Amino acid sequence: MLNIKVTLAETLKEKPKDETKLGFGKIFTDHMFVMEYDKDYGGTGWHDARIEPYHPFTLDPSCSVLHYAQEVFEGLKAYRTADNKIQLFRPECNARRYQDSCDRLCIPQINEEDFVQAVKALVEVDKDWVPHTEGATLYIRPFTFATMPQLGVHASTKYTFCIILSPSGAYYATGLAPVRIYVEDEYIRAAPGLTGFAKCGGNYAASIKSAEIAEALGYSQVLGLDGVEHKYVEEVGSMNIFFKIDGKIYTAPCTGTVLPGVTRRSIIELCKDWGYEVIEDKLAIADVMKAGHEGKLEEVFGSGTAAVVSPVKELKFEKDVVMIGDGKIGPLTQKLYDTMTGIQWGKIEDTKGWITPVCQG
Ligand SMILES: *Cc1c(COP(=O)(O)O)cnc(C)c1O
Repeated sequence: MLNIKVTLAETLKEKPKDETKLGFGKIFTDHMFVMEYDKDYGGTGWHDARIEPYHPFTLDPSCSVLHYAQEVFEGLKAYRTADNKIQLFRPECNARRYQDSCDRLCIPQINEEDFVQAVKALVEVDKDWVPHTEGATLYIRPFTFATMPQLGVHASTKYTFCIILSPSGAYYATGLAPVRIYVEDEYIRAAPGLTGFAKCGGNYAASIKSAEIAEALGYSQVLGLDGVEHKYVEEVGSMNIFFKIDGKIYTAPCTGTVLPGVTRRSIIELCKDWGYEVIEDKLAIADVMKAGHEGKLEEVFGSGTAAVVSPVKELKFEKDVVMIGDGKIGPLTQKLYDTMTGIQWGKIEDTKGWITPVCQG
């Protein structure tokens, strides 16, 4: 249990007037959560847990995160229900995954209960920032970075853990618009033994190049293949990916190179409840394209906290292009979106224990 000291901002920022124009991650709330870690500090090494007015950090130019990217993060959301309750979706899964990410990057872990406590405490302080508009949410970004002022390459002895909050608009301003995906066959996003399963900034830095190549070709997302054979589908940008082929649902296994998404595992659970066979195994891009040409590729969608599900209407792999369905969102993708968002916004009864209440809004 953290002992969190709260210092409230004296003047509050003006809240956005039009919540339909929020975009993603552009504005931040009045407060932030911070605590520091020092190796020699007693107990867990973490100390000075506090909520204080949102402010910039002062960093030593030599601090290790700036040179060697020792950093991890999480992403989750707070939702406002129709009866004005503020709630979270499976935050304990993010807390658990944060420990795995920290372990891989040799960053000191944070107790799972403390992680959830810090998130809830900050959201409650800034609860007026949780949007009231349908589809808009308060995005929550916890992160830890190395602050030791030294250029040697080894685990830092000092860290900062921080949580910031950003009111964000409905991911799809114009409804669930299906996207076109470019399959990257040169640059890889992960390989066995590397950091694909961890949510760390370095993975993203390495992914920007292929995103730019895809964008130049008119594609909005990149599908990454496995790093060894460049043959099997893994993930699309910051989302896991699902393929419905001939009635069965396929997604890449979480065996070290794929980020174990909270949305991914929730979707797998729902699909199994609905009687679908879900296959978590290697799936060759060649087989996906072949299924597409044979008319058996029924639906393709990405999954992640930001978008929930993101329908795909086109896949381009080398010189080959397949269109999926009639270019509109498929019925399973739509049902998943409706069910997930229904539970998140309290419109559908939470029979799975996925909701964590924060406070009255
Ligand atoms: C965060 C993330 C996801 C999605 O995870 P969720 O928990 O569903 O938000 C998928 N892939 C990558 C690379 C990610 O960073």
